Amino acid sequence: MALLNPALLEPNLILGNTIFHLTPEIIRRHQLKGLILDVDDTLVSVRQVNPSDDLLRWSTEMKRVADIWLVSNNLSQRRISRIAEALDLPYLLGAKKPSRKKLRKAMDAMDLRPHEVAMVGDRLFTDVLAGNRLGLFTILVEPMVDPLEASRKHPVRNAEVWVSKVLGASLDGIKQGFTKTNKKKSS
Ligand SMILES: [Mg+2]
Repeated sequence: MALLNPALLEPNLILGNTIFHLTPEIIRRHQLKGLILDVDDTLVSVRQVNPSDDLLRWSTEMKRVADIWLVSNNLSQRRISRIAEALDLPYLLGAKKPSRKKLRKAMDAMDLRPHEVAMVGDRLFTDVLAGNRLGLFTILVEPMVDPLEASRKHPVRNAEVWVSKVLGASLDGIKQGFTKTNKKKSS
């Protein structure tokens, strides 16, 4: 494999918070028309089965300003279809991000061009890399925390942030070692 261009790991926007802080105003500001959303830890923590009421409200609001597709690497038809159906959103699973294939499929289904579409996810080496490879606007969100869990670490994501910085990606504003406990302390 050729050396990875670290710029491909740099999101266009580091939200610095969960997806609930992605607002219609941000969509308008960046002239976006479509959103491709990662599912696990972006919309729903991996241990949650159903979308939260907050997520249902958020997606209803966002549907007014953008076309939305879910594109997940998860292979579980049962899990992803259940979440997608609760949100009433189209979905693709087994996406193998950073592969661009299913992102392109969602973008084509929305009939939009790359700069009109944002890839939104919690991971650099899957979501952000796939989106940047396709020329989408990329948005990194903080992982969704399970409301029932006092504290949850995200070792893979944190390792990705570290490796990305070593490779030379500029990731100012990113939160590392994120846990709900840490967040409480800092707020
Ligand atoms: Mg994820």
